[in-house]
Amino acid sequence: MPSYVVPAPGRPAIPVVGEAGLFPVRRIYCVGRNYAAHAREMGHDPDRDPPFFFCKPADAIQVGAPGTVIDVAYPSATEDLHHELEMVAAIGTGGVDIPEDQALSHVYGYAVGLDLTRRDRQAEAKALRRPWEVSKAFDASAPVGHITPAARAGNMAQAAMTLDVNGQRRQSTTIAQMIWSTAEVISHLSRYFRLEPGDLIFTGTPEGVAAAVKGDQLDARLDGVEGLSIRLV
Ligand code: MN
Repeated sequence: MPSYVVPAPGRPAIPVVGEAGLFPVRRIYCVGRNYAAHAREMGHDPDRDPPFFFCKPADAIQVGAPGTVIDVAYPSATEDLHHELEMVAAIGTGGVDIPEDQALSHVYGYAVGLDLTRRDRQAEAKALRRPWEVSKAFDASAPVGHITPAARAGNMAQAAMTLDVNGQRRQSTTIAQMIWSTAEVISHLSRYFRLEPGDLIFTGTPEGVAAAVKGDQLDARLDGVEGLSIRLV
């Protein structure tokens, strides 16, 4: 065992439905504008330009607890925290230049997650052509539910996904509405990065993104996987 000069950080990990072992998180990749109506609501033309990607640090996850509501700290330095409801694909086997027709075989399982976003900081970054980290990669910016193995989750291609805030429906879609399918996302992403076991891919959000405030309860649901409920505190 190596020794370290400061305490070594722990490995972020996510429980897996039906398994004693945890899923260790290596990297978090996120897809931008992968639903046409969301692209439109953000002021963009939802043509089929190649998907684009950004990252969050692995320790940005905050793991949900099925059947209960977890507290998530409302982040500093924003007056406009937005929820983005997303399907999360968890990579089980790595690769580069993965062909579309093999891409789903690289998925270990699926979860539902929230790509929390400081929308005001993101708008500034866009206007000033600055990077997105401050708006996207902050602490606890990636709440995620438990992972369900792919075989157990079933075919996710048509799965329904919803987000309620304080019991009111805010986002509702099916995975079939994604501009780029999960297989296409994996294929594209693997041209830029070697995917490895432990990588998470947040596959984009449908329309209906909006602000959430302290005290709000957010209930994210995706057919085939465990739900995720958080309260902003
Ligand atoms: Mn997103």
